[in-house]
Amino acid sequence: PAEEVLALRKQYLSPSLFLHFKKPVMIVEGKMQYLYDERGRRYLDAFAGIVTVSVGHCHPAVTEAIHRQNSLLQHTTTIYLNNQIAEYAKELADRMPGNLKVVYFVNSGSEANDMAIMMARLHTGNWDLICLRNAYHGMSIGTMGTCGQHTWKQPMPQGFGYHHALNPDPYRGAFGDDGPRYAADVADLISAATPGRVAGFVAESIQGVGGAVPLATGYLPEVYKMIRAAGGVCIADEVQTGFGRTGSHYWGFQRQGVTPDIVTMAKGIGNGLPLAAVVTTPEIAASMAGRLHFNTYGGNPVCSAGGRAVLRVVDEERRQEHCAAVGAHLTTRLQALAAKHDIIGDVRGAGLMLGVELVKDRKTKEPAKAETAAVMETMKDLGVLMGKGGLHGNVFRIKPPMCFSARDADFLVEVMDVALDKL
Ligand code: PMP
Repeated sequence: PAEEVLALRKQYLSPSLFLHFKKPVMIVEGKMQYLYDERGRRYLDAFAGIVTVSVGHCHPAVTEAIHRQNSLLQHTTTIYLNNQIAEYAKELADRMPGNLKVVYFVNSGSEANDMAIMMARLHTGNWDLICLRNAYHGMSIGTMGTCGQHTWKQPMPQGFGYHHALNPDPYRGAFGDDGPRYAADVADLISAATPGRVAGFVAESIQGVGGAVPLATGYLPEVYKMIRAAGGVCIADEVQTGFGRTGSHYWGFQRQGVTPDIVTMAKGIGNGLPLAAVVTTPEIAASMAGRLHFNTYGGNPVCSAGGRAVLRVVDEERRQEHCAAVGAHLTTRLQALAAKHDIIGDVRGAGLMLGVELVKDRKTKEPAKAETAAVMETMKDLGVLMGKGGLHGNVFRIKPPMCFSARDADFLVEVMDVALDKL
């Protein structure tokens, strides 16, 4: 029973863990876009285990691939040859644009970003890194410094050389959706706060934890030019935005028409398996040659088999096109809901990576934090699970498994309407 699990958790697990709801939900089973609690009650999952279950809970193709590999070989490390990791690297590289062809497998998004930062510094010989306010890239000692949200940092030294640029946030930023105007701040930062040479720049194309904030139009092309002129490399964090979720493109950075030098991915790459990757160019990878770099589990046979199945399912089931269609439908319905409820300040995002921001007043944009939590709790009681994010915790994050249907979208909006009415 949930009470016993809660008691065990309180006694034996870290007190730093947090639960999403006042009345906690216990999940014991998942099937595609649905979750089931210990009493067999069904929930529509619009958060996918924090944007991780990309193709669906226990998707049969992924489950089958894992089972098959699981009974053949579970682990060896890369000190021996194994076909899974090698074939997987090729299949992943085949899905990358430009010259992004060398893959390093690791186990989490934080590790992937740690490695990307290390590569940027080794390759360029520079130290300074430009990041964004409101960014989230991980919780490791190395990535903490890149985060631009105090809520996700611990009060301890964050390392040196992290500089946070103005966030190109079309809703809250000073320059609306004018990307190049925000980019001017990066030029300013480089000349004021660095020796004029930088290791690189890291950003998501749509900030996930930050509250589904799409970077203002035209921002990345300008910034990439500035960073490269200052000797740096451009890192795209695709931990949440990758694998077709944004609908219009396979990778989130493609929405801004740029090609990064290093791409990090995690979460959706493994549909829930502990798997992550860094993909870069042969030139940057060459800077790592001759340096002993090792990772015990990265790309282990079971995770690789699961990751390969995810790639196949995204292609065969046309998940990118599906995200575009269902995302457009859901956005239209959420916009109609915003016309009815003044508390909705903004509906944004792309594909099935959407945000709904609640504000007390549309002019002042004062965050409606308590209301956001209350609506989420009511929606959970009515059978819909969503995430929340943003510095003030006032943004619903709707990022379901990519099999989420138009009917699921309708149900979510109807339940949100009821929950908002109840406020
Ligand atoms: N980058 C982004 C954009 C993320 O959303 C996250 C996780 N929320 C991370 C990196 C870190 O990933 P992990 O929790 O697997 O370390």
